[in-house]
Amino acid sequence: MALAQAAERVAAEFEYTKEDVNLGVKEFMRQMDEGLQKQGQTMSQIPTYVTAVPNGTEKGLYMAVDLGGTNFRVCSIQLHGNSTFSLTQSKVAIPKELMVAKTSRELFAFLAKQIELFLKEHHEDHYNSHLERRQSVFGPPTDEEVFSLGFTFSFPVQQYGINKGTLIRWTKGFDIQDTVGKDVCALLQREIDNLKLPVRVAALVNDTVGTLMARSYTSPGKTGTLLGAIFGTGTNGAYVEKLDKITKLKNMGADAGDVDDSTGEMIVNTEWGSFDNHLSVLPDTPYDHSLDAESNNPGVQMFEKRISGMFLGEILRRAIMSLVADKSVPLFSDEDSSKNDVHSTTHFAPNSPLHNQWGLDTSFLSIAAGDHSAGLKVTRQTLDHDYGVSAASAEDAEAVRLIAAAIGKRAARLSAVAIAAIVLGTDKLKHPKDIATTNDAAVNEDEIVDVGVDGSLVEFYPNFEEYIREALRDVPEIGVWGEKRIRIGIAKDGSGVGAALIALVADKAM
Ligand code: ADP
Repeated sequence: MALAQAAERVAAEFEYTKEDVNLGVKEFMRQMDEGLQKQGQTMSQIPTYVTAVPNGTEKGLYMAVDLGGTNFRVCSIQLHGNSTFSLTQSKVAIPKELMVAKTSRELFAFLAKQIELFLKEHHEDHYNSHLERRQSVFGPPTDEEVFSLGFTFSFPVQQYGINKGTLIRWTKGFDIQDTVGKDVCALLQREIDNLKLPVRVAALVNDTVGTLMARSYTSPGKTGTLLGAIFGTGTNGAYVEKLDKITKLKNMGADAGDVDDSTGEMIVNTEWGSFDNHLSVLPDTPYDHSLDAESNNPGVQMFEKRISGMFLGEILRRAIMSLVADKSVPLFSDEDSSKNDVHSTTHFAPNSPLHNQWGLDTSFLSIAAGDHSAGLKVTRQTLDHDYGVSAASAEDAEAVRLIAAAIGKRAARLSAVAIAAIVLGTDKLKHPKDIATTNDAAVNEDEIVDVGVDGSLVEFYPNFEEYIREALRDVPEIGVWGEKRIRIGIAKDGSGVGAALIALVADKAM
């Protein structure tokens, strides 16, 4: 088969039609509701106990720490009250032995020590005056002297209150059995108190909630952000839900005092990576199927496995390798397809990373899909330098580009399913009676639905947002009219400024 034709056939397998989008949105809305009602559903819909989003006028000095993988980050954030902030930060690698320590204390004492070093270096006055006060007759510090801290902890936790949550299990190379089932905020506070630091762990923060808060503080409008979404290594979203729709809250062991019902709303962390794990509506090409079967967690995170940076490169690698395995298709080869031993003169090195699981990075999709160089020179050079394919032809590169673009576009359209379902499920688009006549109408600021996004995929994959928008227009309840009202903006630094804002909200709720 001719190469171009074969590549088109594979690319077509990734088509995700208007009908698919609409089926996806309906099912997403159904699974969202299910998760709000009962625990242990496909979509976790975790209540965060954060009941308000900022409007940009918040002020004050807060701290944030982030434990999520290889590094521990400590920051202080000055919120200026005009949608801007200044951030000071330090970052330190977590010593490997502490990731697998015998006791929680060893790790959390190290974290508290880093907070102490940070305070001494960047907030010396505050630290010293606190020391003096401790040694004087004036007694313990007053509330104003204590920094409120937002603790971004990117591991699975069962949250019981704004600063209470027990570790379900460690991931990402951490393994300290002693911590499982314990309240991680209390563990950190105990070590902070041991060092007598003027710091209160005010909030336990999930990174998507941080993204939502950071966007809401910095976004140009004052309507408040609806949704914070991450499209990076993984994908997940958090949104503002009506408190009375989170019916499972009653059965979750939250103390009545833990739920502030003054706003009637609460941010919910969807954990949408596991949307439709049973594949009732998600697409399932042979490449998706084998990726999942050979992963270390088959059957879970099925939505994430079709969208996020950790997986798109692997989907493309499998699609490419299926063409390489097809002896009738002349990919990465000089030979004409009419000859028998097509791959005998292949330019494909036996030790190419493309032979290995996870051997193709998702950043390659951005390179190929965005390649406008003559004869796709940039893609060919990348194949050569990074992937052991020497002298790939323009036809080879075009075949790879076509498939990469199809995978990227499908990921964006699937992302739109989540965004559309949340916009519609929360009833944020108030439709005028006759949509058709108002397609061209100017958009008022108070009609804007704001969405904050973060992650390399949405930031760097060419036209990711435009593909999302195309799919949003494919949903009749949104259409051209609604799509124009959805504003999507990058929200940087959710685990810094976002966590600080959650600490602020937590202080107010006290
Ligand atoms: P994280 O989600 O871990 O905080 P990122 O948002 O940077 O960090 O996401 C990292 C993921 O993004 C990796 O899976 C990587 O393969 C992918 N990635 C990195 N650069 C790009 C790019 N230019 N285009 C698309 N994906 C990228």
